[in-house]
Amino acid sequence: MNYETILQEIYQEAKQLPSIGNVAKTIPELSKINPNKFGIHLTTISGEDFGIGDSNEKFSIQSVSKALTVALAFSFLDEKVWERVGVEPSGSAFNSLVQLEYEKGIPRNPFINAGALVIADMLVTNLENPKNDFLKFIRKISNCDTINYNLNVANSEKETGFRNAALCNFLKSFGNIKNDVETVLDFYFHQCSLEMTCKELAHSFFFFANEGNTISGEKILLKSQVKRLNALMQTCGFYDESGEFTYKVGLPGKSGIGGGIAALFPKNFVVATWSPRLNEKGNSELGMSALELLTTKTGMSVF
Ligand code: GLU
Repeated sequence: MNYETILQEIYQEAKQLPSIGNVAKTIPELSKINPNKFGIHLTTISGEDFGIGDSNEKFSIQSVSKALTVALAFSFLDEKVWERVGVEPSGSAFNSLVQLEYEKGIPRNPFINAGALVIADMLVTNLENPKNDFLKFIRKISNCDTINYNLNVANSEKETGFRNAALCNFLKSFGNIKNDVETVLDFYFHQCSLEMTCKELAHSFFFFANEGNTISGEKILLKSQVKRLNALMQTCGFYDESGEFTYKVGLPGKSGIGGGIAALFPKNFVVATWSPRLNEKGNSELGMSALELLTTKTGMSVF
């Protein structure tokens, strides 16, 4: 497979598509991003790297981080994670409150905000220095020491994160948040503010494609655990557009409102795209189109 040529083709074809959507408006700091940025990076299972466009520029990974927090929680709590968070698609917006009321404070899955807040609570309980230890974990799995939180983004979200504060308080009222609401929100805003390039993001997700082994060869999850998390990304990774992404692209992945997407083909490759224009469901429109072109051109999809 000549990935270099394929990425060039995808990049050129995708750039001709009409510009759909706008940058995220809910976090003031993110609304300043140039909407026309576009990068793709693909890493093969043998560790070869192919990048194009703005693939070496850092961006806010936002909800893509939810796949990494649940991976860390799963690595030490194993199946206990699912006592407090479900594994079903939600069919509602990522920041919706309604389902929580009638499901008594058990979020549908770890990728909606309510679920990610419960996972954040688990990490706050189990890590000695939660924000530092999580950053260390990220640097380890990506084999990159320069990855960091963007404190301007974290603070910007803290100042405007009323809905997440509401969710966290609501979860606490059901007994599904064990720590202080403030501490959990602070951790969550930091995880969302992580900045990575497409290349760094593809490297951080490498273990999902490599049966739980990171790009530097360290085992962090069992093969069967990775299978479960990939299944969750496949069914719930794109808000209430997960069916559409599965239909069009056919790979497990996770999106974020910073415009990033990480997706993978187990035992073959990991790919990350970045284009900040979001469609109505909050997914990067151009990123989704680029990934659709990738699996169409290569015929490489899990289906
Ligand atoms: N930090 C964002 C929020 O909680 C993440 C949303 C997203 O990327 O889906 O609203």
